Amino acid sequence: MTTQVDDYIDAIVEDVKRRDPDQPEFHQAVEEVAHSLAPVLSQRPVYREMRVLERMVEPERAIHFRVPWMDDEGVVQVNRGFRVQMNGAIGPYKGGLRFAPSVNLGVMKFLAFEQVFKNALTQLPMGGGKGGADFDPRGKSDAEVMRFCQSFMTELWRYIGPNTDVPAGDIGVGAREVGFMFGQYKRLAAEFTGVLTGKKLDWGGSLMRPEATGYGTAYFLAEVLATDDTTLEGKTIAISGYGNVGAFFIEKANDLGAKVVTIGDEFGFVHDPDGISGDKLEFLKPLWTIHRRPAKDYADEFGLKWVEGKRPWVVPCDVAVPTATQNELDGASAEALIANGCRYVVEAANMPSTPEAIAAFSAAGVKFGPGKAVNAGGVATSGLEMSQNSLRLNWTSEEVDARLHGIMKGIHRTCLRAAEEFGMAGDYVAGANIAGFTKVADAMLDQGVV
Ligand code: GLU
Repeated sequence: MTTQVDDYIDAIVEDVKRRDPDQPEFHQAVEEVAHSLAPVLSQRPVYREMRVLERMVEPERAIHFRVPWMDDEGVVQVNRGFRVQMNGAIGPYKGGLRFAPSVNLGVMKFLAFEQVFKNALTQLPMGGGKGGADFDPRGKSDAEVMRFCQSFMTELWRYIGPNTDVPAGDIGVGAREVGFMFGQYKRLAAEFTGVLTGKKLDWGGSLMRPEATGYGTAYFLAEVLATDDTTLEGKTIAISGYGNVGAFFIEKANDLGAKVVTIGDEFGFVHDPDGISGDKLEFLKPLWTIHRRPAKDYADEFGLKWVEGKRPWVVPCDVAVPTATQNELDGASAEALIANGCRYVVEAANMPSTPEAIAAFSAAGVKFGPGKAVNAGGVATSGLEMSQNSLRLNWTSEEVDARLHGIMKGIHRTCLRAAEEFGMAGDYVAGANIAGFTKVADAMLDQGVV
């Protein structure tokens, strides 16, 4: 039976590759999920009979559009915009918008696919989607960013809505960009609705949404550590990205007694052995999210050594938390971390570890939390923002934080339970994939062939 299921999974993966050979990130995301579903597909043949996985790897809809805009010199620029509406079985599509030069349809599809499982794990009624553009926000003026966002929304607005598809931020999209896009949507739709999350507090946002992904990652990490009867107290942690996710992860990790000793970007990293806290953390917080400045500014400001051309995964640490982007932690980095004593890895970014890295962690007994579980606190709090918009009420920080904390504990428990039930105890990757899949798959079975 197992061989038959393995052959069935291999055929689906091969078909995905054959149909879209130029989408390696999407292949990687599908492959990781599909293989870990073998036990559930074997025990519940109805999923195979009804071709649930075959349907899940095909977006319900993918929109690809031109985004023309004029820069400050009066030169016309043309970018590509996307929105992938991957799966709406359990709620309106939900997921961020990414503005980065590396954005293409394959990247959007991988992110939208991951989002389906992540959103299901939160237990909130959200389907999965993702969008963005190959626009580089670095070095752009506020006026350029506004014109870009307005042009982007002029096309996207007809495909989204508070009960249809609710975008939010991701890399390169923060409160400023959400504001510009919200303003343009409101103008076109002539309606004030909760069509985007990550809004500022005064016009429909939720307290704690900026903190949520970073705090949620720390809450998840605390749960993982608790399975070994330990805590964050005294732990040394290496991270990479220093945007919204990284900065607020540091804040919560510091609160819980840990020390975060690295940040970096695609150009290199800085090692701060005393830990990033106090004034240094306050300097760091707006460095990317507001100023879009390189990580080296942190090293220059505090007289620390900048290590050019390397990732932070070479420093000794107890825990590694990739907080930047896909495939930022490869097999060699994983080996270096293991050799330097790292025992825990939790992914705050989306698919930051390569398959080789995950295999190395597994072989070395390093506890590994995948992004779709670990970083779900961001979208979960977006879900809470949607609830508050519908209620026309604002909850207090304490209330939102308590819900976020409860959701992260719930995700951790759900992953462990699903892994245990299907004979892979302690495997968070399998647990997250199986729990996310079964929730969405059961809804798809209930709703017929759509
Ligand atoms: N971009 C975030 C993610 O990867 C948040 C999405 C949202 O809040 O909708 O989950």
